[in-house]
Amino acid sequence: MSTVKPESFKSTCSYCGVGCGIIVHKDKKGQVSVEGDPEHPVNKGMLCSKGMNLHYVVRDQSDRLTHPQMRWGKSHPLERVDWDTAMQRAAAVFQSIIKKHGPDAVAFYVSGQCLTEEYYLVNKLSKGYLQTNNIDTNSRLCMSSAVMGYIKTLGEDSVPIAYDDIELADCFMVAGANPAWCHPILWRRVEKHKEENPNTKIIVVDPRVTQSCSLADLHLQINPGTDEALYLAIGRGLIEQGDIDVDFIKNHSDGFEAYRDLVMETSLEESAAICGVSTTDILLAASYIGDAKGFITMWAMGLNQSTEGVNKNLALIDLNLITGQIGKPGAGPFSLTGQPNAMGGREVGGMATLLASHRSLNNPEHRQEVADFWGVDKLPEQAGKTATQIFEGLEEGSIKAVWIICTNPLVSMPDARRVENALKKAKFVVVQDISTKAAAIPYADLVLPAAGWGEKEGTMTNSERRISYLPKFTPAPGEALPDAEILIRFAKKMGFGGFDHASMAEVYQEYCQLTKGTNIDISALTYAHLKQVGTVQWPFTGLNPEGTPRLFTDHKFHTPNGRAQILASGPKNKTELTDTDFPLILTTGRIRDQWHTMTRTGKVSKLNKHIASPFLEIHPEDAQRRNIKEGDTVLITGKRGEVRVHAQITTNINAGVVFLPMHWGKILQNDLSRANNLTGNGIDPVSKQPDFKFSAVQVEKYRKP
Ligand code: SF4
Repeated sequence: MSTVKPESFKSTCSYCGVGCGIIVHKDKKGQVSVEGDPEHPVNKGMLCSKGMNLHYVVRDQSDRLTHPQMRWGKSHPLERVDWDTAMQRAAAVFQSIIKKHGPDAVAFYVSGQCLTEEYYLVNKLSKGYLQTNNIDTNSRLCMSSAVMGYIKTLGEDSVPIAYDDIELADCFMVAGANPAWCHPILWRRVEKHKEENPNTKIIVVDPRVTQSCSLADLHLQINPGTDEALYLAIGRGLIEQGDIDVDFIKNHSDGFEAYRDLVMETSLEESAAICGVSTTDILLAASYIGDAKGFITMWAMGLNQSTEGVNKNLALIDLNLITGQIGKPGAGPFSLTGQPNAMGGREVGGMATLLASHRSLNNPEHRQEVADFWGVDKLPEQAGKTATQIFEGLEEGSIKAVWIICTNPLVSMPDARRVENALKKAKFVVVQDISTKAAAIPYADLVLPAAGWGEKEGTMTNSERRISYLPKFTPAPGEALPDAEILIRFAKKMGFGGFDHASMAEVYQEYCQLTKGTNIDISALTYAHLKQVGTVQWPFTGLNPEGTPRLFTDHKFHTPNGRAQILASGPKNKTELTDTDFPLILTTGRIRDQWHTMTRTGKVSKLNKHIASPFLEIHPEDAQRRNIKEGDTVLITGKRGEVRVHAQITTNINAGVVFLPMHWGKILQNDLSRANNLTGNGIDPVSKQPDFKFSAVQVEKYRKP
């Protein structure tokens, strides 16, 4: 092996939306190791278990896709082909399908792990050149309800605060999130702040006792699905205690009277009964919030992944609005993004319902601005198909071809059997991935090997709007290419003219110019500046070299009249109902040391040691009734499928509720470790985000046939 000069590179962790800074070291043999970047404003040198083991994923190339493969017919095996043949085939099939069935017969399904440049290019390709808005992302599964919550209340999808607000707050409400496991470094900052300021109050709202509860002054262990009722009841408590900000409400918001009327319709006793908590605890939460100088609400999938995800977001954000806890130090609503670049994808309009730079797809002027910028006549008017709708479209035949980039829908999408059926019925499936473990490969007509973290350059944006530059520091294996390069090659094969970028810096500069004059303006930003200062928070006008940490400090919101909107509709039960056949509520979630569908973290033996196999959390009463003992194999059945794992009997979950982790699942049918065999097709009507938190199931002790 040749020796090279040892080198170091600054990059960003490619797992969660916290966006920790990493220093990558390459030794003389080219071997990679990582450490937390002590100068990085997010993590100040800290890394969680996943981040500190990232180098093992780079070193282990055993599962990598290394060359394009193609099937000459559905019943033929995948065969190695060269890139030109692969791109020629993709272009020919897409052209033929579009000619015969129209542009909406094709779709792209991408990922919050794509770099911003890749997200930008696939949107330009799909919306601008192929003329279909059928480009959606797995971010639809994690935060689209928060996007709509922000748009409706603040006028735009803009997270108002920065992580530095954590150290300035004295009350946190953590709702439907377990940041101790899922956003560990962010949580470490909360933990340290509380250690140094013991009067800081932490309220956790979760149907389960999670690791985050160990820091809580108050855990509201609500019945699944009753979040909105709880926040409205806390709102009532704040009003009755006189703990609202009358000046803010009067001068900077609309909708308070309707909100007050709504919350007064339900007594605290009724709300307490719905939620399964006491009125004392509801009022205690209200008094913690009312006493706070700085109040932050933090939330994630527990709220968003629901048929009422948007309404839950509205009711939570309302708590910040009626108390005037926004646009000032240590205060604001703060949705936690699950993926490293979910935010970057939102910026470039990387969803079927969005346009670049927070423009609106429903606004003809905005569409024309983007069309003119891209040099095309127009953009399609109609919203595209969202994540679950793409697979429904494939199943019923209105969509013929899907191009899946950097995501594993057979494990991560709800109702896995439907996804399998959809892929079986599809005329043409492209899987573009780094790993041979991508579960859709057996259904693919074309498999394209992609470069992974550190094998390509680009940018990402974390949960606090912080943009980071990620360098290329190691070659991709075999013939694998950066996702952006693959998209550019395809666009050129299609004969499209707008893809002559010589570098990723050029792609980024193009996107930056598209933000000019918008509320997320970064037109003054360059790769050179990012490399010099490390990171910036949008908007970035060039006046402050580090961008804008906090939004809405002037209390001028991005709504048409500049006022925040206090909105609430009242809870409606639209979830799947339990019955005598399926009497238990299944909720799904994450564990500390695995990431998504384990294609990367599953390769690291240290991480696998934390929890080695999938399990079902079940309350002792439910277990006893079924004669289930700790460690027994149990069969969980629902209306759509079944799962078989071992039982973990715990009082951390209420009777009537069971929990499965979402990470496990392998290739092909009858995989009984996959939680999404049981989840359903309910989506929020506004955000189109699927519900992963409420499915009706039955559990029994498994007996071998
Ligand atoms: Fe990576 Fe998130 Fe852990 Fe930070 S907290 S090291 S970004 S996984």
